[in-house]
Amino acid sequence: MNAITIDGPAASGKSTVGYQVGQRLDFLFFDTGIMYRAVAWAILDRGIDSADVEAVGRVAGQLPISVKAPGAGAQDGRQATIQIGELDVTWPIRSPRVDSIVSIVAANRLVRQELSRKQRGIGLEYGSGAAEKAGVVMVGRDIGTVVLPEAPLKIYLKAPLKERARRRFKELVERGNEADFAKVLDDMRLRDRIDSERAVAPLRPARDALQIRTEGASVLEVVEQILPLAVKHLGVVPSSPGKQDTTGDSDLSAGLA
Ligand code: C5P
Repeated sequence: MNAITIDGPAASGKSTVGYQVGQRLDFLFFDTGIMYRAVAWAILDRGIDSADVEAVGRVAGQLPISVKAPGAGAQDGRQATIQIGELDVTWPIRSPRVDSIVSIVAANRLVRQELSRKQRGIGLEYGSGAAEKAGVVMVGRDIGTVVLPEAPLKIYLKAPLKERARRRFKELVERGNEADFAKVLDDMRLRDRIDSERAVAPLRPARDALQIRTEGASVLEVVEQILPLAVKHLGVVPSSPGKQDTTGDSDLSAGLA
């Protein structure tokens, strides 16, 4: 199976690193966090209480989420265009309002049942090499433990809370959001706690995951640690860094998480 799982807490570098690994291996990059974010955004939009387990579960079951390659017009740093129906929610799902409820939504067992089933379907399809990509890099919190536990390479990225909050703060400011560092730090601490203490699929490294610390590392350094492991565990051959890797030599704090 050509699948690499990357798990870890918020802003540990999963998306930036996973995207680059996907580019170098011609694998589909799939960020599962966007699905939980899309459900959180939709319940805010519809005025549904995040504590209403059944109603939130229903939204997760019905939401027409699609992930597309960014169009030629979308040169705003997005890795993909996320739509709910025809509506482009790529940036709205990354707002502080969504951040503040997404972990509650993600702890809902009905939501997890629905979304992890879909994610596993995507993982198996692309991991089999039958789709148009050679494999899949799937990132999230429970990919190595629950969604694709049979993946031959499992990575767990970690960095101290303060460093991760700094990355998220920088990202919010760069996107033109009003942000208060102390609030970003508190929100992230709370999100970490809910994600790791929930009853269903809590955030933790799979027993056989390789753990990598990302503080002070560049994106390229972390990617270059993972690629030899992909060669070893999956027998694939990476391409050299190409023009697409414009964030490759930047510090992780400059990237998405
Ligand atoms: O990765 P990101 O920060 O975008 O994820 C948003 C939230 O979605 C996480 O805080 C977590 O609550 C949830 N999530 C999850 N399982 C995943 C991916 C994300 O519970 N596989």
